Amino acid sequence: MFKRYSAAASVLIFLIAALSGCQGANYQINQISYQKFEADFTNVFDTASTVVGYARTKDEFDRCSRIIYDRLTDLNRQYDIYNNYPGINNIKTVNDNAGIAPVPVSRDIIGLLSYGKDYCGASGGAVNIALGAVLSIWHDYRTEGINDPDSARLPPMADLKTADAMTDIDDMVIDPQAKTVFLKVKGMSLDVGAIAKGYATKLAAIDAQKAGFVSGVLDIGGNIEAIGKPLDGVRDRWGIGIQDPEKPISGSDNILDTVYVNDNCVVTSGGYQRFYEVDGTEYNHIIDPATLMPATRYSAVTVICKDSGDADMLSTALYILPIDEGKELLKKYDADAVWVMRDNSMTATDGYKAISKKFGGYSAVDK
Ligand code: ADP
Ligand code: MG
Repeated sequence: MFKRYSAAASVLIFLIAALSGCQGANYQINQISYQKFEADFTNVFDTASTVVGYARTKDEFDRCSRIIYDRLTDLNRQYDIYNNYPGINNIKTVNDNAGIAPVPVSRDIIGLLSYGKDYCGASGGAVNIALGAVLSIWHDYRTEGINDPDSARLPPMADLKTADAMTDIDDMVIDPQAKTVFLKVKGMSLDVGAIAKGYATKLAAIDAQKAGFVSGVLDIGGNIEAIGKPLDGVRDRWGIGIQDPEKPISGSDNILDTVYVNDNCVVTSGGYQRFYEVDGTEYNHIIDPATLMPATRYSAVTVICKDSGDADMLSTALYILPIDEGKELLKKYDADAVWVMRDNSMTATDGYKAISKKFGGYSAVDK
């Protein structure tokens, strides 16, 4: 275990050495001078992540980005549904013990799963972390279809329905006193893909703030948490770009809109990143529990709210639900959103419009 850990840590240090640096002049604020730094991680939550921040020294920034990286690496292992790690019980351990025995788990797992249970109720079942049996079928067919496009097939509906009989969230029993989780039904499994990155980003951001990280943006595979404001003496808010679903994910000129925020999270769910094709139709990775088929209403949905865990759940839920139901759900969480429709037009809440460049919000008075 130690060996794995040191290998991962050295990647971080290398990346910081390679990528962090002063990206402009020293900025003076109340006689304290700040510089902008950046660190990139490629190996947490199977995705590319970036931390940008203003700090007084490179050491100060490196210390904070290291704290963020270490926490995310640990949470990534705990929330993993595909791999076991020596010495820890993770969500895969819970799944492997479905119908067999309660599994002792950490506070971080109890926290995530408790939120997951609440989210299922709040979203009317749209986001259900106990949908693992159905999602794993789609995962296998998608992986096969991506690896060998000529033989891409859809899963038989009968298989999906059989799996759906094992997705009742109430069959996940959390015992906070004993610190255990038990899946009562054999064959049942958890999939925390819709909420884990956002919840982990929140926990990492809290740690970083405790360590003195006052100004920065965590972009953990598209789950964005903006802390404070840019300390460049000019801007009051961070400008966060929203990917145009029609454009390549990497490259320039692929921003559909920019929103201006501080102390807020911006999370997108879209069908354009992970999908496979069967007979010319794309099938993405967000499954509507009502139909057991991929959600098709929108190209993407972006949610903005204070809590990164809530934002991650909401973006998945809104991607599945009709707009009016999504709007009701947003109110419960004091959140805003933009729906990017299939023709790339945008439907947004008033709160979104007020901070959006495209809708002539905050940017109209941006310095
Ligand atoms: P991403 O993780 O790609 O940024 P999301 O946050 O929307 O996107 O989460 C999608 C993931 O959530 C899927 O890959 C799958 O693991 C899981 N998932 C898909 N549909 C559902 C659903 N209805 N309820 C709960 N989890 C889901
Ligand atoms: Mg999500």
